[in-house]
Amino acid sequence: MRYLFSIVILFSLLSFTSCKKERIGADKDYKELGSSAKDFLTSTRYPSILVEVSYMPGFAPDRAVLTILESFLISNLHKPEGVSFQLKEIASKKKESLNLDELVKIEKETRSLFTDGNQLTVHILITDGLYSTDQSLLALSYWNTSICLFGKSLQEYTRNLNQIPRVAVVGTLLSHEFGHLAGLVDQGSPMQTQHRDFSNGAHCNNPQCLMFYQIENGTNLLSLPSLDSACRKDLVANGGR
Ligand SMILES: [Zn+2]
Ligand SMILES: [Zn+2]
Repeated sequence: MRYLFSIVILFSLLSFTSCKKERIGADKDYKELGSSAKDFLTSTRYPSILVEVSYMPGFAPDRAVLTILESFLISNLHKPEGVSFQLKEIASKKKESLNLDELVKIEKETRSLFTDGNQLTVHILITDGLYSTDQSLLALSYWNTSICLFGKSLQEYTRNLNQIPRVAVVGTLLSHEFGHLAGLVDQGSPMQTQHRDFSNGAHCNNPQCLMFYQIENGTNLLSLPSLDSACRKDLVANGGR
């Protein structure tokens, strides 16, 4: 009897596990960065974007930051049904820094919205620490619909801003990350002219461009750059506006 009881428990655990997997339905997310570029740029499959923001305590994004990001997305992507946001607070891991494996694990524990039907979704994780691999990094995009902001690095970086509004800085940084999801540079949206900075990953070689690599560590962020014409042309050629 006892044995049978254990089997029943085992079976219900198994079915719970498989149900959970099915419910998660992340078959269109957790893919290589840039692989959904066309889905971001065009409205054919996904006429809108839903952004889920999971933030650790004390690091909720300002509304104004999301408004800046929204206007970047509306002006570069064909999303006639718009962009919406869903925010939720998640528990702190109480660690000074987190590595990529840990970020992935947190996203898998907390993400509840996935690309499905006609809804393209993105998950933004905002931690309360630093990135352990590169402590100067403010943000990172690591999969086709996954972004992380390092809350503590960003807080320290924006602490002493004088004339420049903090929300504009964070909005610009997030726009850079969405540039990666849209396939820049040459990772999902093929280059129309040679402007990739090959020694610094999928970035643009123009220091005045939003997609320059030093945006992510803040060095070139304070000028609040926008996309240069080379990056804009790549997006348009792949279906963007
Ligand atoms: Zn970047
Ligand atoms: Zn560029």
